[in-house]
Amino acid sequence: MLNKILPLYGIDPSASEIKAFGDGLINHTWIVKTDTGRFILQQVNHQVFKKPFDIDHNIRLLKEYLDTVYPDYLFIAAEKDLSGKSMLQIEGAYFRLFRFVETSHSLNVAEHPEQAFEAAGQFGKFSRLLSGFDASQLRATLPDFHNLSLRYQQFLHACDHPVSAERKKIAAKLISCIIENKDIVETFEQISTGNEIPLRVIHHDTKISNVLFDAQEKGLCVIDLDTVMPGYFISDVGDMIRTYVCPVSEEETDMGKIEVRIDFYHAIYKGYTAEMGNTLNDNEASYFFYAGKFLIYMQALRFLTDYLLDDVYYGSRYEGHNLNRAKNQLVLLKRYMEKEELLKSQP
Ligand code: ATP
Ligand code: MG
Repeated sequence: MLNKILPLYGIDPSASEIKAFGDGLINHTWIVKTDTGRFILQQVNHQVFKKPFDIDHNIRLLKEYLDTVYPDYLFIAAEKDLSGKSMLQIEGAYFRLFRFVETSHSLNVAEHPEQAFEAAGQFGKFSRLLSGFDASQLRATLPDFHNLSLRYQQFLHACDHPVSAERKKIAAKLISCIIENKDIVETFEQISTGNEIPLRVIHHDTKISNVLFDAQEKGLCVIDLDTVMPGYFISDVGDMIRTYVCPVSEEETDMGKIEVRIDFYHAIYKGYTAEMGNTLNDNEASYFFYAGKFLIYMQALRFLTDYLLDDVYYGSRYEGHNLNRAKNQLVLLKRYMEKEELLKSQP
């Protein structure tokens, strides 16, 4: 298949070196070394992204805007093939090619607050530069991705129709914990129905592996733009808080290892607000701490819903996998809320 695709870009596969690349979970990624430089070739996972051409539509619009208004910004849009297409559909599969950003690297985990600061700066910069772009022109590549009201309804539905009564019984404590913290859903409803904070161009997948760093560990740009769509800043800030402040991921089963690193939270705050500047209005700023609750809670709720529905969405590598992931996120939520005062106080 790859031998058919590369010639469409004028690349001779027999004169190139092609290797699987990175630890991405969603798409298939290869690195292609050619005489004219290196490229990243990706097959889009269209089980997840049902309409890959919507991704292409969004990126093209954003590129057009940024090329006009901020031509120096490093925006990683897909290359065009010889016929001008930036997303190819071949035998039911979808592909695109990016120029490899030379002398860049990505990180799998945030090990130092400075890395969190740099990453948050890159996501803040992205939304600030696009604050003059009309976000409503973008298509929802994952409809209702961060719609917590809907996710909560789906959770309640799963509680009423679990795959087995036994699973519901095992999950009883966690179910209660989700319901006890329902005020997080109510706050989201207030935000989304009251036009309290603006819809912006939001990345929606701000884990640290979606930032490229230079050799000095300074942030270069954001990548993985498949989930860029209209949203609230709490989505981007929330997922940074969820994934950078805790030294272990949702896969950790030793709950004693779950902690909230205050210096990482402050680094996210400083990096994001320094880049966003006045673009982030006071009302939004007042939801900065809430952003972490919103994302951690939503992730817990989604894992638990999946456990109740037989792991059909996230899959499971062992019995109770999604139950443990939900438990992990609820422990993180508890520890995060316990530190509210400290987190909110400026260092
Ligand atoms: P995820 O698990 O985040 O969904 P994914 O499957 O969507 O991942 P990407 O995040 O787009 O894949 O890419 C995977 C990895 O490939 C990145 O973490 C990065 O290391 C590398 N990468 C992607 N694009 C580029 C690029 N243009 N230049 C250099 N490296 C890149
Ligand atoms: Mg990625």
